[in-house]
Amino acid sequence: MTKTPPTSIVRRTGWPTSVSRPVVTPLQPSVVYASPDPDALDAQYMEKSGYTYAREGHPNAEVLAQKIDMLEGAKNGIITGSGMSAIGAVFLGLLKAGDHVLGGDQLYGRSLRLMTQDLPRLGMTTSFADPTDVAAMRAAIRPETRMILVEVMSNPTIRVADMEGITALAQEKGVLLVVDNTFTTPRLYRPLDAGADIVVHSVTKLLAGHSDATLGYVATRDPDLRTKINDANVTWGLTPSPFDCWLAERGLHSFDLRLDRAEATAGKLAEALAGLPQISRVIYPTRPDHPDHNRAMGLLGGRGGNMLSFELKGGRAAANALTRAAPEIAFAPTLGDVGTTLSHPASSSHRGLTPEGRAALGISEGFFRVSVGIEDAGLLIAEMTKAVAATKS
Ligand SMILES: *Cc1c(COP(=O)(O)O)cnc(C)c1O
Repeated sequence: MTKTPPTSIVRRTGWPTSVSRPVVTPLQPSVVYASPDPDALDAQYMEKSGYTYAREGHPNAEVLAQKIDMLEGAKNGIITGSGMSAIGAVFLGLLKAGDHVLGGDQLYGRSLRLMTQDLPRLGMTTSFADPTDVAAMRAAIRPETRMILVEVMSNPTIRVADMEGITALAQEKGVLLVVDNTFTTPRLYRPLDAGADIVVHSVTKLLAGHSDATLGYVATRDPDLRTKINDANVTWGLTPSPFDCWLAERGLHSFDLRLDRAEATAGKLAEALAGLPQISRVIYPTRPDHPDHNRAMGLLGGRGGNMLSFELKGGRAAANALTRAAPEIAFAPTLGDVGTTLSHPASSSHRGLTPEGRAALGISEGFFRVSVGIEDAGLLIAEMTKAVAATKS
């Protein structure tokens, strides 16, 4: 028997070379990167370039960050493992015990929880004020206020914050302004251009757009803030998977087209719903009866986005009848998907509130939020009209 020299399939042989290059961004799942020698590794750390370990950064996150940067007019944006970890990285990187954070009073449910339960456990204080009322925001500022967190459009009542007033207030008081731009997207509003310090996104929603990747994004124009937020992201391990980044980049390529299409449909759907006798109220920013209509038209450049809410007569029984009569429209607590989704805050995002608490926000048992998708407008309006008609008792 002749002896063959030992070989090992675990020794990676590298990537075949080619003069041509892939047109599609390669998916790079490698967790570790090998360097030629200690000097080269040293230089890499000094120059903060290249890759060493995926939690510290990887090419798919960088490619995705650069593309969202273009949309937001930002540089060196940071990708995180979820929208919540984007907000978490901002808090963990920039706050210390004793700091006060002022939030808009209708933030995303988990953001509210983070502020009411988790920040106080770490020694920070928090309070909330109505972001459509800048005088209320001003009155809530304390000497130790370090940060304001607001969403431009509230969920699910689609109120539009007084962003000009809040931005001026934050600048006057020397308080960091953090804007969650998930609902508005950079097509409707660009927080950094308008003077905010930090923009955050749940990339999971409209930017990625296909409900198959959970990711977040943070950007700031201040390099010192950027370093602190990035360190929190890397140290607390809030970092994203290459595969999710790769999926999100693919989704992002059609973001503009999807948003334009969904927005055009949302305007038509709002009008169709407003004409139905079983509907008592439709909330959409470009409608003259929207409570913040004038501000919204100025702030969002006449655009309304893809989100609308409406109130059905007949309470919970009518709400059950509506979702049962529209099985084609996913009754699911998310937004920004290619397909239209319906959510019912009283039984989901706002179930923790008392009926009186919900009533104060204008959320009844007949209240629905619609995230309009990219399906044919005529089809969607026909399905919704049929479902609303089925609620007649
Ligand atoms: C969904 C959402 C978040 C959280 O994002 P995840 O990606 O689900 O962690 C934060 N803010 C807003 C406005 C959202 O809609």
